[in-house]
Amino acid sequence: MSISEEILKLIENGITDWDEIYNRLIRNYSKSTVSSAKKRLIQQGKIKEETINGKKILSIPKIVNSYEEEFEKKYGQTLRDYIKSKITEYKDNPAFSIRDFALNCMMPEINEDITNHPLKAREILNKIYSEIYHEHYWELPDKKITIYNTLNKPKRITEINSKDINKLIEFEGMVIQSSKIMPRTETASYICMGCGKEITVKMGIWDSPLKLKLTCPNCQTTMTYNDENSTMIDFQEIRIQELELSEDGRQRDVTAFIEGFEKGVYSGKLKVVGVPIKKPKKDSSVSDMFIYVVHYEELDKQEISITEEDIENIKKISKDP
Ligand SMILES: [Zn+2]
Repeated sequence: MSISEEILKLIENGITDWDEIYNRLIRNYSKSTVSSAKKRLIQQGKIKEETINGKKILSIPKIVNSYEEEFEKKYGQTLRDYIKSKITEYKDNPAFSIRDFALNCMMPEINEDITNHPLKAREILNKIYSEIYHEHYWELPDKKITIYNTLNKPKRITEINSKDINKLIEFEGMVIQSSKIMPRTETASYICMGCGKEITVKMGIWDSPLKLKLTCPNCQTTMTYNDENSTMIDFQEIRIQELELSEDGRQRDVTAFIEGFEKGVYSGKLKVVGVPIKKPKKDSSVSDMFIYVVHYEELDKQEISITEEDIENIKKISKDP
């Protein structure tokens, strides 16, 4: 057994006082090798040292599973079965209703797990959806899953605050301004001109693919951005105004980002499910807040459609004296 293994064994057996461990081990090993074994274990994250009542106490940190692993373990199989049962419905409109899943699968706790890490949850849902889509249609879906029908109480735009950053929220508002649809680089591809190695990097909204400096892991050459192999997504920036007036008689609004949707949004009342994200203002500790939209619904949209019959009727009426 190595010194490191002996240290770990002693801690596991409840001997956690470093002085005690040290005194036991120096009977068989030199003082410096015992000390450096402990130092190494701390550096490797295998043990933790805390000073409690003047004593150095060692412990073995619990391995915390990642959110992705926990989510997969808890919901993976149920989600697969659920999405399988909905795959025809999801083919054209992959919209995941938290409420429907929670009720049908008796798992209301998923609301909190998605609310706390909505973007990670969406990636996992998307992965499962793509797998099942592929099994059924032998190709990959061209749409991404959206998330709606949360069990959270809808907020007013003016109620969104720092506690909501990176969480899933729901609100209603009126579109008062919107940009045209712009292509956004979703994944940027870089190529090494030295050895041909390619790397793909996911781009955040404020990342610039041209500013990113990557060094080839094989040959240390600076990599070149490769637009051709990068992927684009349709992106739109809209301003959504609160429906109610604030105390000062004015209406507040928030800027939201929509991407990957079929058509642009230019007007009307929306119900939005989104994630407030922050961007620090330059030279300040204050941030601007934006909403990254994961689902939206157009409310009371009046479709104006005129049939052939209507036209005939209009003509008749207009002929009458
Ligand atoms: Zn290279």
